[in-house]
Amino acid sequence: MLNIIMFGAPGSGKGTQSSLIAEKYQLVHLSTGDMLREEFARGTEIGKIADALISKGNLAPDYVILEMIEREIERHKENCNGFIFDGFPRNVIQAQSLDDLLAKDSKKLHLLIDLRVEEYLLIERLLKRGLTSGRADDQLEVIKKRLDIYHQVTAPVLDFYKQSGRYAAVENCTTIDEYFEEIVRLIKISVSSI
Ligand code: ADP
Repeated sequence: MLNIIMFGAPGSGKGTQSSLIAEKYQLVHLSTGDMLREEFARGTEIGKIADALISKGNLAPDYVILEMIEREIERHKENCNGFIFDGFPRNVIQAQSLDDLLAKDSKKLHLLIDLRVEEYLLIERLLKRGLTSGRADDQLEVIKKRLDIYHQVTAPVLDFYKQSGRYAAVENCTTIDEYFEEIVRLIKISVSSI
């Protein structure tokens, strides 16, 4: 089993790279952002609570996120090669909870991959995406709020994985292919079971 976190600021390309890596290693791709948007599209209570927070750039509550993640792990764990977590964990409580959840089944999180992208590029990409995504959170004021929360609440997660030797960073890549090749290389050298 291979369990990986695709980590990075909003606009870093987590979703794109997670899909490519999921396909290559046949992993289940769990994007908490996508799950929340699906809940909203289905008109559920959770979706409504989440949408009010997301559209202002705030995080959804931990209990909502952890419940969704636990449900999906339970659903797939017996018949999959592993998971790629995209947009999760987003704070230290979620990171610790993920380790606890996996440990219950004697499984572990192997590696966090940190997609490092310069801030001006993140803003440029998100504004461009906003023209077609229809996402209320892809507009300048909300983007700035999301980046603030990323630096204050989400980036501290990195120490949690650095301290346990499960951290690898990708930087100075430009194209989607370049990022992908580098991620594959990092997985090969970091995870001995691959
Ligand atoms: P991005 O990384 O571009 O912000 P996502 O789709 O990962 O896009 O997340 C969109 C929004 O969904 C976040 O700004 C946040 O409000 C909410 N969200 C997604 N994942 C989480 C999470 N793990 N914990 C709390 N909120 C989350």
